Amino acid sequence: MTETEHPAFLQMAPFRIAPLFDPRVWGYRDLRPWYDHVATGEPIGEVWLTGDECLIATGPHTGKKLGRLFHEFHESLLGAGAQSPDSPLLIKVLFAHEKLSVQVHPDDKMAQKYGDPRGKTECWYALAAEPEARVALGLKPGVTLDQIKAEIHDGTLEESLNVLTVTAGDLIFVDAGTVHAIWPGSVLLETQQNCDLTYRMYDYGRPRELHIEKSLEATRLVTRAGKIPPVELADRTVLIDVEYFRVERLPVVRHRAGASLPSKGEPARGLSYLFAASGAGRLIGPDFHPVDLPARSIVAVPASSPAFFIEDLGDLDLIRIAPNWPAK
Ligand SMILES: [Zn+2]
Repeated sequence: MTETEHPAFLQMAPFRIAPLFDPRVWGYRDLRPWYDHVATGEPIGEVWLTGDECLIATGPHTGKKLGRLFHEFHESLLGAGAQSPDSPLLIKVLFAHEKLSVQVHPDDKMAQKYGDPRGKTECWYALAAEPEARVALGLKPGVTLDQIKAEIHDGTLEESLNVLTVTAGDLIFVDAGTVHAIWPGSVLLETQQNCDLTYRMYDYGRPRELHIEKSLEATRLVTRAGKIPPVELADRTVLIDVEYFRVERLPVVRHRAGASLPSKGEPARGLSYLFAASGAGRLIGPDFHPVDLPARSIVAVPASSPAFFIEDLGDLDLIRIAPNWPAK
């Protein structure tokens, strides 16, 4: 079939995306019980749930790369009048066995200055945390760029960073320009603008490349980063709702065979993703084959999706992630 026989605004049913296991020096070899995956080579640090290279796992587009699907069917996925055919959000699960580099991401303006489409604002939702779990987030008050430069050179940069304890259920906002580092002890669900730009400032002596000049250009001394308190609404808990994304926990109310997904009738909902933080579920609709949602997997719900129900197959803890579009 050609694309002309498949107009971009066609209805598109929800589909599951296969995770990609991405090696990182600071990761784990054995991801069980989170994922049934044991690495034979390099440890795995990041499990990409919505990367452009991730493969569609169910439905008529099975085997296709997610990035390509966005380019072919962006109006079905994002809704009419989508500003860009790109996949807007990169969602990952991070497993830090060792400290990640101290790093910073550019904002849209700086990314565009260097020819990239967008910067990277992100947030972390703690799926689990050990009692000593910490992250470094932002600079202590009064720290200057000259001081940071000297501390990168001396290997003492940690002294200038704000340290935050992490507890399961925390939502931590990391806007572009915030100097940050993830330290061991937590499993984080990361939602970020779909952007590849990370500037490493300090890497604990590991031989990976640093990007000191650009990291200093990207750094903002004061940002909005920090823990976000949840907002309880009648039909969901809003964990964060900011310029690029919103992350919510949805109660799945059992009623006989299944449960209805709340808020389906909200106007202009657009694309969303459903992630099973724990337990398992199944999406059931009259117009498509049921789509299983096993623990820690993700299903894309296109803007043009037909109505459906979610069946709780046991202890389903459901997180919904959706892009927001900042005003131009
Ligand atoms: Zn980051």
